[in-house]
Amino acid sequence: MKPAQAVILCGGLGARLGHRTAATPKPLLAVDGSPFLDVLLFEIGRHGIKDVLLLAGFEGEQVARYAASTPIAARFGLDVKVAIEPSPAGTGGALKLAEHLLAPEFLLLNGDSWFDVNLLDLAPAAGPDWLISMRLRGVPDASRYGLVTLDGEQVTSISEKPPSPGPGVINGGVWLARRELVRFLTPKCSMESDVLPDLAAQGRVAGKVCDGYFIDIGVPADLERAQTEVPARRRRPAAFLDRDGVLNVDSGYVGSRERWRWIDGARAAVKRFNDLGWYVFVVTNQSGVARGYYGEEDVEALHRQVFGELADLGAHVDDVRFCPYHTEGTVERYRRESDWRKPGAGMILDLMRHWPVDREASLLIGDSDSDLEAARRAGVSGRLFSGGSLDRFVREQIDPAQAGAP
Ligand SMILES: [Mg+2]
Repeated sequence: MKPAQAVILCGGLGARLGHRTAATPKPLLAVDGSPFLDVLLFEIGRHGIKDVLLLAGFEGEQVARYAASTPIAARFGLDVKVAIEPSPAGTGGALKLAEHLLAPEFLLLNGDSWFDVNLLDLAPAAGPDWLISMRLRGVPDASRYGLVTLDGEQVTSISEKPPSPGPGVINGGVWLARRELVRFLTPKCSMESDVLPDLAAQGRVAGKVCDGYFIDIGVPADLERAQTEVPARRRRPAAFLDRDGVLNVDSGYVGSRERWRWIDGARAAVKRFNDLGWYVFVVTNQSGVARGYYGEEDVEALHRQVFGELADLGAHVDDVRFCPYHTEGTVERYRRESDWRKPGAGMILDLMRHWPVDREASLLIGDSDSDLEAARRAGVSGRLFSGGSLDRFVREQIDPAQAGAP
């Protein structure tokens, strides 16, 4: 399910970072040359969530200026609002103050950490009573955080920071929350140390351990580590998926939802790539546009609809390229050669210009020789899908050693 809104906690003082945060809110500290918040907005944007609310406090005007100017908002068409608390209210207090701005169910993120998980798959499998569902991470030293215990998908306890260093399971700062949660908040309180432990004791917190990349920039050593690790982690393998014959049954010039039939296992395959931390791109020849069977806007509307449906399963497509041109087209403006038309590599190369892709680890899956030739020309490994379950095929194609998000 796709949350309607993403809320980011940006109000912390960053005391442990000393002079670095004397005049700058922690989420705006530079990581690889850009404000850290750009990393979070990029993730929110590529998962298709458009409404963003930044809860700011300390130096809130800087957060507001950031929201008005970040290129990530323009890139993904995000609507970024900022709420500034008049005096320090803690993470829970900030949320309570913003109650009138909250969607009934929203994604909630810490503004100074990044936990690389599937943001559309945060709801627990069962249990109607949860108010907040959290993603948890095992870490070698949990002494900076509270320890979390689980029974199935139910969080049974959240305790104070352990006194001495040692491994443990911690709260990863990524939650799906229900607005009713604010009934449990006081004007000044901390989510981590006041609210969540109480809610866990009442059985209202769900949780699941994930092994995605996690970093918290709250101490100098980790802020330093983030400078190289974060850009490296954002450079992901990509699944370049042909459309007709791979995602949908190829019945010839499919230009409307009525004629679209998902291939067996196609939606599960997309989610598999999402869960593994790969980008998912669709690259498709659509000469039906040049032939006058449908327009570019019909193709775009179809893609919005069918790829939008993936959210119900916790899956998404990051980006799409289609080629409307053909040398034998009947529509004048589309009658031409194009290096975007497979076996040309244009669509794949364009995606690699717009996204940080680990080309060597990427795959293209297609059902024709021209797909594989396009992959070869782009320097990407191509795999021929000849029917059956796409998810089973993907499972067989992914080398378990390269698949992992660590
Ligand atoms: Mg095909």
